[in-house]
Amino acid sequence: MKIGILKETSGENRVVMLPEMVKALVDLKVDVIVEKNAGLNAYAPDRQYEEAGGKIESRARVLDESEILLMIHPLKGAELKKIKKEQILIAVFNPFFNMDLVRQVADAGLISFSMDLIPRTTRGQTMDILSSQSTIAGYKAVLNAANLSGEFLPMFMSAAGTIKPAKMLILGAGVAGLQAIATARKLGAVVEVFDVRTAVKEEVKSLGGKFIEVEGATDDAAAGGYAVEQSEEFKKKQQQAIHDHALKSDIVICTAQIFGRKAPILLKKETVEGMKPGAVIIDLAASTGGNCELTKDGELLDYKQVRILGKSDFPSDMPTDASRMFGKNVFNFLNLIIGEEGGLNLNFEDELVAGTCLTKEGGIYHEKVKELA
Ligand code: NAD
Repeated sequence: MKIGILKETSGENRVVMLPEMVKALVDLKVDVIVEKNAGLNAYAPDRQYEEAGGKIESRARVLDESEILLMIHPLKGAELKKIKKEQILIAVFNPFFNMDLVRQVADAGLISFSMDLIPRTTRGQTMDILSSQSTIAGYKAVLNAANLSGEFLPMFMSAAGTIKPAKMLILGAGVAGLQAIATARKLGAVVEVFDVRTAVKEEVKSLGGKFIEVEGATDDAAAGGYAVEQSEEFKKKQQQAIHDHALKSDIVICTAQIFGRKAPILLKKETVEGMKPGAVIIDLAASTGGNCELTKDGELLDYKQVRILGKSDFPSDMPTDASRMFGKNVFNFLNLIIGEEGGLNLNFEDELVAGTCLTKEGGIYHEKVKELA
């Protein structure tokens, strides 16, 4: 079987797989073709892919000859139209927010897998791109906040006086939030955390954060560990509590998301107006609307001396390790669908294969995506 690695377009620095994983694929008796300069922005030059056993080709040939096409951002438009039915696409389709593209892929009769749909089970952990990329986002969010802030994060006792540690408020303690807590604590900040899932309280504490509990949150076991929409009464109580804590904070990191939905607004304009001059807000939920009412995705705003950075593509700013982790996740998934002698072995009885499949046989295969469509 032939697997093709495409170069990302539109400002993305990551590549779906670094050379080290190409070598692992070749060991599974698969032929790997790589688009010229695919890894360049992630500091993986073509010669490293060749040394790993891959073959460098033009984009047109990779698109034409691969039985499985690997990429991070999915193909669109004219290129998508050229893909043949027997080719398989593996990408991050972000299907709940890209329904037109999903329909196009389904109508073209293609088999596609969306890596962001990997079931979040114990077995799925090694393939979970949302987790690996969120780890990077949480880490970079804190580093960027430190860069934007006019103050130290740690406490300092010097001859020039004592500097108090920065106060950081983290909204949402999923994978990105937990990494943000760990990074902020290593840099010496004092960290407070809000989440609607009280199950995360112990993890927050073990990382050195203070969990602020608001009574009455709805926790739905059927949501598979994800947060669910909250009652109006709870939202009001939570808003007030977040308002009170934000006014005392130097930095707020927003990571709260609800799977497949718009992000909850947790920081209102009035709250930002009351925050300290020089305070910094980093909003990782920007691509789904943001947790701060004023956030604009991809922009750094200065609102009454509070800086608000809306950013959903931190992994692209750390492309080497982001691609390393992404590629390992994809390799682990490919391992499920590559059979003996490097052939294709699609077993839809496997919950990970079935749960990640987006389209198949001319229709949308994934139940939740189909419901929404
Ligand atoms: P996410 O990106 O969907 O959301 C980030 C956090 O925001 C979550 O902790 C969520 O509870 C919180 N949140 C949502 N609405 C909020 C609100 N109104 N106020 C405050 N906080 C709010 O989360 P994620 O990082 O994708 O993790 C989601 C779940 O999946 C977690 O339970 C995590 O442990 C689980 N998970 C499981 C696996 C696995 O087993 N393979 C891997 C990763 C994550």
